[in-house]
This record gives sequence, structure tokens and C-alpha cells, in this order.
Amino acid sequence: MKEIKKEHTNGILDLSTPIEYLKGIGPERSKLIKNVLGISTVEDFLYFFPLRYLDKSKIYRVADLKEENVEIQLKGKIYDLKEITYGRGQKRLSAKFRDETGALDLVWFQYTQWLKDQIPLNKELYIFGRVSLFGQQFSMAHPEIELEEKREKELRLRPIYPSSEKITKRGLNQKFFQGIQAHILGHVTGLVQENLPQSLIQSLKLMGRQEAFVNIHFPKDTSAFEQADIRLKFEEAFFFQLGYALKKQYNKTSAVGNPFPLVGDFFNDFYQNRLPFELTNAQKRVLKEIRNDMRLPIQMNRLLQGDVGSGKTMVALLSMLIAIDNGFQSCMMAPTEILAQQHFNSLSEALFGTGVNIRLLTGSTKAAERKIIHSELENGTLHILVGTHAVLEDKVKFKNLGLAIIDEQHRFGVEQRAKLWMKNKIPPHILIMTATPIPRTLAMSFYSDLDVSVIDELPMGRKPIITAHRREKDRNSVFRFAKDEIDKGRQVYFVYPLIEESEALDYENLMGGFERVSEAFPYPDYAVTMLHGKMKPQEKDEAMQYFASGKANIMVATTVIEVGVNVPNASVMIIESAERFGLSQLHQLRGRVGRGAEQSYCILMTSDKMSSDSRTRIKTMCETNDGFKISEVDMKLRGPGDILGTQQSGVVDFKRLDLAQDGHIIKAAKDTVEALLRADPSLQQEQHQALKNYYIKQYKGKNKWGRIS
Ligand code: ADP
Ligand code: MG
Repeated sequence: MKEIKKEHTNGILDLSTPIEYLKGIGPERSKLIKNVLGISTVEDFLYFFPLRYLDKSKIYRVADLKEENVEIQLKGKIYDLKEITYGRGQKRLSAKFRDETGALDLVWFQYTQWLKDQIPLNKELYIFGRVSLFGQQFSMAHPEIELEEKREKELRLRPIYPSSEKITKRGLNQKFFQGIQAHILGHVTGLVQENLPQSLIQSLKLMGRQEAFVNIHFPKDTSAFEQADIRLKFEEAFFFQLGYALKKQYNKTSAVGNPFPLVGDFFNDFYQNRLPFELTNAQKRVLKEIRNDMRLPIQMNRLLQGDVGSGKTMVALLSMLIAIDNGFQSCMMAPTEILAQQHFNSLSEALFGTGVNIRLLTGSTKAAERKIIHSELENGTLHILVGTHAVLEDKVKFKNLGLAIIDEQHRFGVEQRAKLWMKNKIPPHILIMTATPIPRTLAMSFYSDLDVSVIDELPMGRKPIITAHRREKDRNSVFRFAKDEIDKGRQVYFVYPLIEESEALDYENLMGGFERVSEAFPYPDYAVTMLHGKMKPQEKDEAMQYFASGKANIMVATTVIEVGVNVPNASVMIIESAERFGLSQLHQLRGRVGRGAEQSYCILMTSDKMSSDSRTRIKTMCETNDGFKISEVDMKLRGPGDILGTQQSGVVDFKRLDLAQDGHIIKAAKDTVEALLRADPSLQQEQHQALKNYYIKQYKGKNKWGRIS
């Protein structure tokens, strides 16, 4: 211990030096900093980035102050310092600050005699801090003070670090942090090593790594800051992409798969004689991509993106027929029981009379049926298993699973996907279908180990859904509109929010809504049915059938119908309390109509009071039907972590990179990584050793697939 200390006090820092050895810190403060800010080494400090910068060349005037809560710099003099006793003998220090244009109150709630003696009176100086407004009078608490005579010559942007009261109270103010950072950066030469090849730095015109750290803390000017920012973001994106690219490369070269060379009778018979409609060009193209993948003795890992209603299910079905033609079983997983049931129904119907054996496995499958499923799976007579997560259970064993399709709602992470691989000695081909489009930057990041197919075309003759925003006062006309549509033979959904925190209340609303709708649409002229999550599976199924068969005109439901429900004759979707739904949920719900050739409508009912986020969501829905555009807005509102779902939210913890803003940087990093691995797949070249070593050091153990050494 002693020895280390000696070395560090000599001023030799390295990145792993504990912060207590830094000048001005020591054991007490280092504990505080570690607890509150999570900083324990010199390297952590380098990555402790400013929240924002104060432009020291910019000096405000008291007379120009308008808003409170802004951090500003003023130039003038302090006078009239006094102690004021208030409350129960508490004291504060107060003074006036004046420039040529006016005066401002200064106040210190916590102070020592020493501090009091330090405050320079009647001298030209600068103060920095956040102004607040009491009545008409502006004031500043705990200002930082800089005497004119001691002012730095070079007016750089001044970093403002994230802080908390707990820390400032103990004297660790901005000046302290600036001092520490300056000290570290002053010794940084040789510490911060370049981790990207020179050729790349030159071709992309990136700032060097060390210079970037210096300029992120103490930018020479705005443009230096921007360069530093881009450099550090690029670096993050680059190594992140490298991880995924190495995984993809590993999959392609080493992940053996079952080749499906044949297109046989099951596929051909269906394609020629049973296809209920002509495939769209996009469906054909995507099917070809899948077929080409599965032909090879390499495991397919493909993401199928397509907007709601673009016809992903048919692509899935045709892919499964190819598996059967090659003597393999398939499974198709859905996030909810209703959706699994729905897939099962529509697949069974489409496959009726083809000899394909298909069964459904969910949490509520009876023991007797389970037994049959287990034995048919194991002896190979079951061709297709449709189900929920129940399919993943260890008890479920296939004879030869060749293709696994995931129709997902919540995004699966890499680890979850891997679980499916284990279902067969040679891992099955994997096709992931997204329920909602994924923002481009997320697809580019978190799915970049997958190949991506996009269905970018809706079936012919679909009319864009007309979406409108209505309020409670419009209810009668909304009901009248629904009646007109029903009279034309159409069907209508009313959807109510059911959000867990306020479940009891939501449940009441749903029941109230059901009654109100039943009154407005009385039996026997109209038939209303209801569907919600608390119903038994059999009741759900009956309600669904009642509506799907056209016997019921109206379905009152919660979001259980959100994903995948398919009743093409339904043409009106009325969403109650629409301000409470998320954007992707609204888009999914709207996707339940517009599935036939009729003009369809979506009516968003809201109260008069809405948050600004709600307003943005409603407005976006009224403006566009494009799921990709909607997903971009959604990401801006919710942030990428929420979009990816809990499974992956941890991995979006980037230090600087912002997935909602930095799409162009991510794209550049991805292209760069791809070019790099094309030229040097196992990173053997001399010029790539630094980046390889950095990658191994940073990500060792995190990526099991990182087979480079
Ligand atoms: P999603 O991509 O949202 O899963 P589905 O697969 O459920 O969409 O398809 C939506 C509806 O469009 C279904 O009723 C389906 O039968 C129909 N459909 C799919 N492809 C076509 C097509 N090429 N032409 C006409 N209708 C189609
Ligand atoms: Mg679907």
C-alpha cells in the first residue's frame, strides 16, 4: 500500500489509479465521490463527462435577466455582506452584487467563518451560478467567484459536471471537479492510448483519442467540442458494432445448420393450389431470401420486419412448408395466448386437407393434449407446433426441429434467442418477426448480428386507414358513425386501457364502457361481445369466435387484442382514453382494422386535458399510417431502452451515444466495421492490433461469441 502511494504522489498516474491518490481528494472525499458518483479510478474520471458547458466569453447583465434557473456569469462587485438570523436561530450569509445595470441578492445557506472571510468585497470580479427569482428580485445561492486579476487568459468553454447537493455542500463544487479533471488531463499524455487505426482516423477525419478527452472536458471552442463528441460517440458505436459483427461472422462461418435443399410437394401443392391470394412482390422477395438462407448448411438468423398487416404470417407458413418438405419440424412462438390461438386457427384453416399435422401448446393446454404433443414431437409425426413461451420449456423435445419462428411483441435478447438453439443438436434456423417496426438505429444496433428482411409493401387494394381525434362531447356522433358502418355490414372494436397500476379502476371503466355500448347498441338489433385478460381461455376463445364469425357486430375489449387479431370485416377501431396508450400500442391497435378491402377508420377518443407527449402521440397517429415513422417518434418520446423492452434495456447504457439522435454515427460505425472485417476477418493485421486488444480488454467475458484471439 505504502509503495503505491509513493509512486502516485510522484505524479505518475495510470488509468487504474484509485482517486484517493489524486491531489486534493484523499480517503474521505474519495469515499463520498465513489458513493455518490460511482467514480473510483482515474479512468472513471475521464468518463465523467460534463453535462453542459458555460461559455466564459459570455457575460450577462443584471438588467437583462428574464428567466430563473439558468446558469450564468456576471461581472461586477460584491458589497453589503451580512449574517442574517432566521427561523429557529438558523443563520445565512447575504450580500448584494451589482453591475452597471442593476443589483442581485447573493446568499449562502451553509458557510464557515473561513468562507465568510474569503468573500472579496468591492473588487472587480465574476460570479457564476444559477439564478432564482423571489418575487421581483433575482438571487443566486452559493455563487462561484473569480477575481478579475486572477482570471484565466484563455476563455474556454467551462465544463459543468453533474452534481448533487450532497456533494456541493461538502465543498466539492464545479471548481473542484474542474481542478481534478485539469490535473488528470495534464498528466494524461501516454495514458489515453489510441484504439482506432491511423488509416481510419485519417479517412474519417476523426479527432485523436487523447485530444478528444481533453476537448470534451475543456473544449478549445465549440467546433473542437463537436469533433471530440463525434470521436467519442464513434468509438462507442464502433466497438459495439464490432461485437455484433464478430458474432454474426462467427455464426456464418461456424454455426452449422440443417440444409433444406428441397422445395417439395407440401410447398408446391400449397403454393399452386391453395394460396388464398397473390403474394405481394415484397412477400415474394422476402420468401426468396429465407429460402436461400435455409438452403445452406449454415444456421439462418433472420429478422423479418414488416408493418402491421403486411402479411408476415403467410411468409412464415410457406417457410414452414419448406422445412416439412425437407423432413424437419417447425415451431412458431407468439407472445400471448390469444395470438398463439389465432395463429393456430388461421394456420390450421389454411392447411386443412394438406396432411400437415399442427398443434397448439400454451400454459392452459390440458394434460391429455400435452401428452399427445410430447409424444408426437418426439416421434416426429407433429410437423408444426404453435405456442407461447411454453414451447421453450425443457420438457418440450423435438425429434428434429428445423425452423423456429418467433412472432414477438417484447423483443427477445440474444440470450433468449440462444435458448431456442438448444432445442436441436444442430440448431434450427431462426426467423424473428417483429410485431411493430423497429426504429432504424435500433435495428442497426441491436439486431445487427441478424440478417434483415423487410416487407415494405402492403397487399394490393388496401386503403389507408383514416384516423381522427374526438372528445367526449363528440360521443353521440361517434356512436352514430359506428351505427352507419354496422348497417353497411361492418364490425366495430371499442378498446379500453387496462394498465396494471390502476387495474381495478380500469376494470370498472371497461365494464362501464361495455354497459354504455350495450345500451347504445341494443340487442337484438346489435350484438355486443367482450374480451379481456381476466377471462378464462375458453371464454376468450368463444368471444373471439363470436366476433370473428360475424355474429357479433361489436367487440368491447382491452389491449388483449393488440397483437395479431385478424378479423378482416372489422372496419372501425374506437380507442377510449387514447391519451393513455403508448404510440406503438396505438399503431398495433389500429392495425386490427384495414385488413380487408373496405375503407377503415380509427377514432381516438381522449379527454380535454392531455400531456404534451400524449398530444404528440395523437397527432402522429392522425398524420401517418407508416409504422417506421411512428417508431421513430416513439423512440424520441420513450427512449431506446423502453422500446427494446426490459430484456435488453441494460445494454443501451451508452456513455455518450444517443440512439435517438446519432443514427448517422451508428451507420458510419457499422459500415466501417463491415469493411474492416471484410479486409481482415480475424483481425490479424499489424494495424488492427490496438483495436483488437482494446476490444478484448473491454469486452472480455461479455461476449461468448467473441472468438478472436
Ligand atoms: P402481419 O404482418 O401484421 O402479421 P398478417 O400476416 O396477419 O399481417 O396479414 C394481414 C392480413 O392480410 C391477413 O388477413 C392476411 O390474410 C392478409 N394478406 C396477407 N398477404 C396478403 C396478400 N398478398 N394479398 C392479400 N391479402 C393478404
Ligand atoms: Mg402478425
